[in-house]
Amino acid sequence: MASIGSDPPPPSSDPIPQVVITPKVYAQDLKKLPQNPEESGYYTYGTPTLGRGQYGNSRALSTLFSIESRWEYNHTNRFGVGNISLKYGGPFEPHVSHQDGGEMDVRALRKDGLEAPVSWQDSQYDRAATKELIKTFKDSGNVNKIFFNDPAMPGVQPLEGHDNHFHVEFKQNAQ
Ligand SMILES: [Zn+2]
Repeated sequence: MASIGSDPPPPSSDPIPQVVITPKVYAQDLKKLPQNPEESGYYTYGTPTLGRGQYGNSRALSTLFSIESRWEYNHTNRFGVGNISLKYGGPFEPHVSHQDGGEMDVRALRKDGLEAPVSWQDSQYDRAATKELIKTFKDSGNVNKIFFNDPAMPGVQPLEGHDNHFHVEFKQNAQ
């Protein structure tokens, strides 16, 4: 029989409790979006910080990478990518979705090129550039729906809270 605990007991009379937290996994194999890689077409924003809310599934991330490289080729300003999902997926307040790594928030673009939020009602809102960016997402063929409130924007649906960013719902990962 194997001997377990043959080491002498620790000198302290109060044993240190070993707490092992096993995370609940809602979505498998999510990967963190690279944070501000050199010469990329996107920048990152959002809370929690350090990309802890930027875990995506393989289809969402690979689609984003092809979009950002096309974008970077033709533009000097970068677009902002915010919340995707938490590391293991699951509930992500205050969002009702963003649970499986297949949804992503992207900021509308500004005329002054600042990497900052802007709503579609603001004079700094760059409708033409935002339209081109949304079209680039749709042209990927991997997008189901986009929510955004600019009534003059083709191909999007309005949804409360989507004045300064659009929400991209990617198609499911291929089985
Ligand atoms: Zn969203």
